[in-house]
Amino acid sequence: MQDQGCAEPVRVDVDRDDAITTTWGDGHTTRVDLALLRERCPCAQCQALRDAGEAVWSGDAQSLRVTGAELVGAWGLGLAWSDGHATGVYEWGLLRSWCACPDCSAR
Ligand SMILES: [Zn+2]
Ligand SMILES: [Zn+2]
Repeated sequence: MQDQGCAEPVRVDVDRDDAITTTWGDGHTTRVDLALLRERCPCAQCQALRDAGEAVWSGDAQSLRVTGAELVGAWGLGLAWSDGHATGVYEWGLLRSWCACPDCSAR
């Protein structure tokens, strides 16, 4: 197995109005709420907003939806949002680092 094996997904479940749940090669599961994903969008545009101390997204979490999700090569997940934003590609390692389960939080 490769060094990065634990950060490669074996399964990605996209619940378009709730959360994205990724199951990793080591059997671990990471669930991240959509609102959190949207706020942490890693694209250059959102990064610039964060750097400037501005809100990346100020929409309503209740109405936020994922309108499209696609694997980008072997390294991440591209997400399109109901607010029209679609430039963020979430690297697997990034998604894994956002895991908020008791095990990961304790680390
Ligand atoms: Zn973005
Ligand atoms: Zn975890």
